[in-house]
Amino acid sequence: MATYLITGGSGFIGSHLAEALLERDHQVLILDDLSSGRIDNIAHLRKNPRLTLVCDGVTTCPELNEMVDASEVVFHLAATVGVFNIIESPVQTIVNNIDGTEKVLKAAVRKNRKVIVASTSEVYGKGTKVPFREDDDLLLGPTSKSRWSYAASKMVDEFMALAYCAEKKVPTVITRFFNTIGPRQVGKYGMVVPRFLSQALRGENLKVYGSGEQSRCFGYIGDVVEWLLRLAASDQAVGEVFNLGNPKEITIRALAEMVIRITGSEAGIDCIPHADAYKPGFEDIERRVPDISKAQRVTGYSPRVDLEEALRRTRDWFLSQDSLEIR
Ligand code: UDP
Repeated sequence: MATYLITGGSGFIGSHLAEALLERDHQVLILDDLSSGRIDNIAHLRKNPRLTLVCDGVTTCPELNEMVDASEVVFHLAATVGVFNIIESPVQTIVNNIDGTEKVLKAAVRKNRKVIVASTSEVYGKGTKVPFREDDDLLLGPTSKSRWSYAASKMVDEFMALAYCAEKKVPTVITRFFNTIGPRQVGKYGMVVPRFLSQALRGENLKVYGSGEQSRCFGYIGDVVEWLLRLAASDQAVGEVFNLGNPKEITIRALAEMVIRITGSEAGIDCIPHADAYKPGFEDIERRVPDISKAQRVTGYSPRVDLEEALRRTRDWFLSQDSLEIR
């Protein structure tokens, strides 16, 4: 039995990771200020005596050093995420993401704790290469467009994690998530799958932003959790960056059609200009496909759940909830 700290452990990815670690008989510490995480996500785990929840922010928690000291591995997932949050609160995004990661890494130096730092496919920015490899150039838009502050903050986190590894000998691993989906993901910060499911299940037309010809690759949460566990256990992963996701690509319009089909909804599709959905001048990304060969090689694991199955499982979770509203 080992002890794992998950910052952001009551969020979508964190709560699934906590569940998987508890199932494997480990001790789990969660540090979460419940800003975007939800207590409901871990309600079913709270009677487990091997789970400890500390409700505080990474940047404000007086017990951060003790919690890191007590853990063999830290999964640092706490961050400001979601397009709506990023556009509305750029200061919080930048400060929270950079300061939080620095505090975790600094704490990890004390006892040389392993830290898995969550990053994002957003760091590839406007790059047009298909697929993206971890050592590709990163191409962000201008600083006058606040959406890029999220990618820039995560890029700094990556530099910082690699610098702590090289200079302070903290074993760090960086994971770039490509549109992870599954039960417990919320739509109110902008994520497309929970928004479409909620709209379809309520019989409301699905709101596709832009032409719908832009594409994404959606990775199922169960596959992402399995990779995280394997990377945490791998010496080969230390000091390395990994794309995590499913390389199967789909346009947002085709995604909307698939959601309508698997929910049996009568809803149609409305196309909304990006400027109305977000902010005038908003730059969306056309394509974003991961090359996952590095993660496959190091972990021996490949994605098992395809998009349709991932949507069905997420639909079933939605149907088990009290409300189908976007939240
Ligand atoms: N999107 C959409 N309708 C929504 C939310 C998002 O059409 O209600 C589009 C969005 O413009 C983008 C894609 O879906 O092209 C994925 O958006 P999300 O915010 O989930 O992820 P990201 O853009 O970070 O990949």
